[in-house]
Amino acid sequence: MASLSLKNVCKVYPNGFEAVKDFNLEVEDKEFIIFVGPSGCGKSTTLRMIAGLEEISSGELIIDGKVMNDVEPKDRDIAMVFQNYALYPHMTVFDNMAFGLKLRKVPKDEIKAKVEEAARILDLEKLLDRKPKALSGGQRQRVAMGRAIVRNPKVFLMDEPLSNLDAKLRVQMRSEISSLHNRLGATIIYVTHDQTEAMTLGTRIVVLKDGVIMQVDSPQKLYNQPNNLFVAGFIGSPQMNFIDAQCVVEGAKAFLKFDKYQVELPEAKAKKLIDGGYAGKNVVFGIRPEDIYDSAEHLDKFATCKIDSDVTGYELLGAEVLLYFTVAGANMSARVDSDTPARYGDHIELAFDPHKIHVFDKETELTIT
Ligand code: ATP
Repeated sequence: MASLSLKNVCKVYPNGFEAVKDFNLEVEDKEFIIFVGPSGCGKSTTLRMIAGLEEISSGELIIDGKVMNDVEPKDRDIAMVFQNYALYPHMTVFDNMAFGLKLRKVPKDEIKAKVEEAARILDLEKLLDRKPKALSGGQRQRVAMGRAIVRNPKVFLMDEPLSNLDAKLRVQMRSEISSLHNRLGATIIYVTHDQTEAMTLGTRIVVLKDGVIMQVDSPQKLYNQPNNLFVAGFIGSPQMNFIDAQCVVEGAKAFLKFDKYQVELPEAKAKKLIDGGYAGKNVVFGIRPEDIYDSAEHLDKFATCKIDSDVTGYELLGAEVLLYFTVAGANMSARVDSDTPARYGDHIELAFDPHKIHVFDKETELTIT
């Protein structure tokens, strides 16, 4: 069992900078938790407080029911895998993995068994005699993981462990870490600024901004029901399109007005805006690129939700095409089928699915619907 909780945790650095503000999180046994957010949002600081490498200014860190704030890092039963792997260059793979156990005076035959087991899990058996310089980036990464695994810790902490790998290897290691999580049944807290990594790995994702938690949810929920404008814009690539709009209410109907357009909202969404008192108010209209279409079939189906613009960019992704254009001064993108006839400079019509519309409060930036 390895449950972990952070209660009202704050970090104020000696220069007075508040890097983490009132952080509350309950991590259950075997969860794969991701901390994600832009550079400087406090991801590493939080992870380092859990590891004991950074003092907690106020609040509590509890692991398996025990307050750990003042427990030495080495006694927290936590293993940390860093971005730069921190392998000892003069030691073999075996010795790198065995090092922590040797320090703990674990018997030699037990060390051998543990290292060999970790090497088997990580497919490093044939490399145990090599030095780090004779390994590829991905192999070094696995050695760093191995060093953590042999300790059989309660919690694994990983700080951007894939950031030094090339794009192809990252994808490969991503799936290896995911299957490792399943095989080990371990509790993992993983830091990344890459939202794709967050979405593919995490069972739950913590989105941070300026040291404050914006939302904690499953990848699916974050994507489909973001709490606010920040999460909506951060999760998803290319990001959600946003247009400043005005809410117009006529009886039981609500419309979003922007530029020359007036789009009617589906009943349930209209009700939320009307009940929330948004009639006549400024809001932000959001729509994801994949919910905008250019096919004749969709233009017909969503005839009341049409926009038109000049194509300012065309990117073939393989199975799909990204079209870039501008509406009401906002730069937008649509992810359409690769057989689209649209090309750079064309004036095209697009339609979007009204049920996929997101609406945010312009002032508070919170999600209305
Ligand atoms: P990145 O993705 O760039 O690594 P991060 O989200 O991990 O960013 P942190 O390293 O946790 O961010 O830093 C959070 C904030 O705290 C940053 O604004 C950083 O400049 C600040 N900070 C970090 N260490 C110190 C320190 N020792 N003293 C003062 N401020 C610090």
